[in-house]
Amino acid sequence: MKAIVDHQKCTACGVCVDVCPFEAITLKETLLEISDECTLCGMCVDTCEFQALSMPEVGSGAPVDLTAHKGIWVFAEWREGAVHKVSHELLSAGRKLADKKGIDLCAVLLGHALDSEISQELIAHGADVVYVVDHPQLTPFRDDTYSQALAELARRKKPEIILAGATSMGRSFIPRVAALLKTGLTADCTELDISDDGLLLQTRPAFGGNVMATIICPHSRPQMATVRPKVMKMERIPGHGGKVETVTLPESTFQSRIEVLEVLPERDQTAKLTEADVIVSGGRGLRKGEHFALIEEVARLFKGAVGASRGAVEEGWMPPSHQVGQTGRTVAPKLYVAVGIAGAIQHVVGMQGSKIIVAVNKDPQAPIFDIATYGVVADLFEFVPALVKKIKQEQGMV
Ligand SMILES: Cc1cc2nc3c(=O)[nH]c(=O)nc-3n(C[C@H](O)[C@H](O)[C@H](O)COP(=O)(O)OP(=O)(O)OC[C@H]3O[C@@H](n4cnc5c(N)ncnc54)[C@H](O)[C@@H]3O)c2cc1C
Ligand code: SF4
Ligand code: SF4
Repeated sequence: MKAIVDHQKCTACGVCVDVCPFEAITLKETLLEISDECTLCGMCVDTCEFQALSMPEVGSGAPVDLTAHKGIWVFAEWREGAVHKVSHELLSAGRKLADKKGIDLCAVLLGHALDSEISQELIAHGADVVYVVDHPQLTPFRDDTYSQALAELARRKKPEIILAGATSMGRSFIPRVAALLKTGLTADCTELDISDDGLLLQTRPAFGGNVMATIICPHSRPQMATVRPKVMKMERIPGHGGKVETVTLPESTFQSRIEVLEVLPERDQTAKLTEADVIVSGGRGLRKGEHFALIEEVARLFKGAVGASRGAVEEGWMPPSHQVGQTGRTVAPKLYVAVGIAGAIQHVVGMQGSKIIVAVNKDPQAPIFDIATYGVVADLFEFVPALVKKIKQEQGMV
């Protein structure tokens, strides 16, 4: 699909050509053409004073009865018997949204023979209701059984909003759920709120992170969003009460075309990076891959993990699993040390939730200083060895 031109109205003035950020509009003599590069961003529509441009109609069939949908759901992801932290973080965020709207917050637990403690933990993090679907085909995780079960449950209970973690599991099956329910999905939201007219405001970086876009889903239900781990703050609510409801779905829901042969434990450093209390990250300012030894030494002294900017990853100095930022990992450690990193918005969105940010950069105008708790304007090759020496002295190592 692409933007539609009404050639009867188009005067070939050419104004819209320069407006399109994707260079999707061309004027061939007097004929305006829109190519497949069009992303339906809509920016050209308002610039045409002759109302010659419009967006195609989306959606099909009868309009959805919006009033029939109630409640906010959080998909409760679990592994090895424990709920993933992102689900608790989303319950905390969902609690605020549910209170603002005056509706229930529900957690959805899919699995087989799960410990009842899991449901109690979900309630303690804010859930009013925990829907449990228990079936042998729901362990281990499979894209098809999970998406069919969540979609079927949503068809029956009609939630207004579904939130899920942008984890490897969420990224894999939540888009299928949105497709089965014929609704939209906003991935990797960094902020969620409720508008004055009750819609979910889903904010996320757009246009390569250069703008923050707030997306709404006014015509279909449920409104669906994913959020990466550590973006929302987790809060336990002592004494919060809730109920557990086991739901039985038709056998056909659990038919799978996937056979899981073996489940292998994760081997890369990614988990370490997202869980670390201290992260020391290096950027292109390090000039060579070998110089990452400086970063690794500081990280070792702080018992932390090593991160990297995309600049450093693109140079081949660090594997992509260490990349922090919009297309890397979102982290929120107690201490984040950015060394030789400029502070591009795409990096900042992945680490701005850190409690203390220390930036080392020789350029006093570097944007990283706008978000740093402590800024050190210095040549990293002088500062970092001096820092290492000082830490070793403090730790009684020299
Ligand atoms: C769609 C998209 C997604 C992206 N996703 C990410 C992402 O997930 N993560 C990410 O990091 N980037 C991402 N980027 C790239 C981002 O825009 C930047 O290009 C990248 O972060 C730059 O990396 P850098 O800061 O290491 O390098 P540079 O921009 O080259 O900055 C190097 C910095 O080091 C400083 N410096 C140089 N020498 C020294 C020295 N001797 N001592 C002290 N300081 C020194 C310089 O002053 C400079 O500020 C993305 C871009 C796009 C378009
Ligand atoms: S701005 Fe409107 S009238 Fe001008 S070229 Fe574009 S579509 Fe045609
Ligand atoms: S809708 Fe956006 S991408 Fe499509 S032609 Fe218009 S400005 Fe370009």
